[in-house]
Amino acid sequence: MPSTATPRTAIIGAGISGLTASKMLGDYGVDRVCFESSDRIGGNWAFGNPNGHSSAYRSLHIDTSRHQLSFRDFPMPEHYPHFPHHTQIKDYLESYAEAFDLTSAIEFENGVEHARRLPDGGWELTTTGSGTRRFDLLVVANGHHWDPRYPQFPGEFTGQTLHSHHYIDPETPLNFRDKRILVVGLGNSAADISVELSTKALGNEVMISTRSGAWIVPKYFAGTPADKYYKTSPHIPLSWQRKAMQLLQPLSAGHPTDYGLPEPNHKFFEAHPTQSVELPLRLGSGDLTAKPNVARLDGETVHFTDGTSADFDVIIYATGYNITFPFFADDFISAPENKIRLFKRMFKPGIDDLVFAGFAQATPTLFPFVEAQARLLAAYATGHYQLPSLPQMEDAIDADHAKFLGHMHPSARHTQQLDHYLYEHDLRVRELPAGRARAARFGATSLAGRVA
Ligand SMILES: Cc1cc2nc3c(=O)[nH]c(=O)nc-3n(C[C@H](O)[C@H](O)[C@H](O)COP(=O)(O)OP(=O)(O)OC[C@H]3O[C@@H](n4cnc5c(N)ncnc54)[C@H](O)[C@@H]3O)c2cc1C
Repeated sequence: MPSTATPRTAIIGAGISGLTASKMLGDYGVDRVCFESSDRIGGNWAFGNPNGHSSAYRSLHIDTSRHQLSFRDFPMPEHYPHFPHHTQIKDYLESYAEAFDLTSAIEFENGVEHARRLPDGGWELTTTGSGTRRFDLLVVANGHHWDPRYPQFPGEFTGQTLHSHHYIDPETPLNFRDKRILVVGLGNSAADISVELSTKALGNEVMISTRSGAWIVPKYFAGTPADKYYKTSPHIPLSWQRKAMQLLQPLSAGHPTDYGLPEPNHKFFEAHPTQSVELPLRLGSGDLTAKPNVARLDGETVHFTDGTSADFDVIIYATGYNITFPFFADDFISAPENKIRLFKRMFKPGIDDLVFAGFAQATPTLFPFVEAQARLLAAYATGHYQLPSLPQMEDAIDADHAKFLGHMHPSARHTQQLDHYLYEHDLRVRELPAGRARAARFGATSLAGRVA
């Protein structure tokens, strides 16, 4: 039976993951504190975030359309464009926090420095502003797009280097005019930055280098945001749906080699596609040149794996991010190579008072995904959901891994890929009812038992 006492809960972070978790816990009457190291909410979407946790550049628009992005219980304003600017995403999060009175539960500029699990369960948190405090349940929502990952290339480059995390605009943090620039990577940030810096108005010579290649998808299809057509069905095998998308792909953006990109080393939808309308045009207009992977660095010269080389003033590494939890002792929980085994991407088997939120690369977007996770979190915290046994959780992790990642090109970028529609359907139709039945049959979770 559900427990009447609820766990005193700490949430690390007030980005979209922490905010949705906090909202849902508040709805269910769970006593919670949301620790935020910054002086504002929004995390990545708080452009220029003083704590360095935003990777947004000045021109960033969200890749996902307004239609897909909206929280299910808080639609985006009708007057928003199809692909809102980051300032509008931040405003949207502000109004979400205001509508549900979330800020009263946030302690701003009070970052979590250490999270120590107590021998009998529960947590001791040491924060920057309020010393040491104890909680029954810990929700980790510190984001996974703030700790830049750099590739290891042999040799040394003597020009300037930066990661896309630090790129703001053509004047910041460097003056990007009349420069020879290499952008490494072919994800969304690499595409946006290459497009921005290769405009003839800036006088740059820009090349883009890719190790794996990528399939480029347009933002519009037949005049409608392309992701409006994206909705996977839980009733048809995913491999069939993928095959259908692979067959239809040539009708949308054509083959990457059509406009000079290297042949991808994977089929369409076997890696996260890159959304860009302008990249093919810029390549096709000769403003931007594509190169394969970097073979070695030598002073100002970069040698590529096809035997060509070129000299550069700047290299911009748009090579992704590490998943890191600086507040945990290394030997407690970490994500080497961005791998962390989590049941439903939330629970670490064996640690029942710890929940992760937002640790996925959800297609088409993270927003409704974190909302779905928050529902499970609230059911768990209030004793309406009981976890399965440890072997069942391990089996489910393997099965989800095979379903969502089995076909993906192996790389640190694709360790947390999942399809939101299938994930949400599984939680709603199978996992939540199953967990509710377990709670009714076996009593409160050990967590709720401890609290009571
Ligand atoms: C350039 C770029 C473009 C993107 N575009 C899209 C897109 O189009 N669609 C999409 O769905 N996703 C996109 N993403 C993914 C993005 O990560 C998510 O949209 C979203 O920001 C994740 O939210 P989060 O709350 O999990 O993490 P974050 O936004 O990173 O928020 C985490 C919060 O935790 C706080 N925090 C961290 N450590 C501590 C600590 N120790 N103590 C207290 N507080 C702490 C941070 O200050 C921050 O407020 C993009 C990411 C990048 C980098």
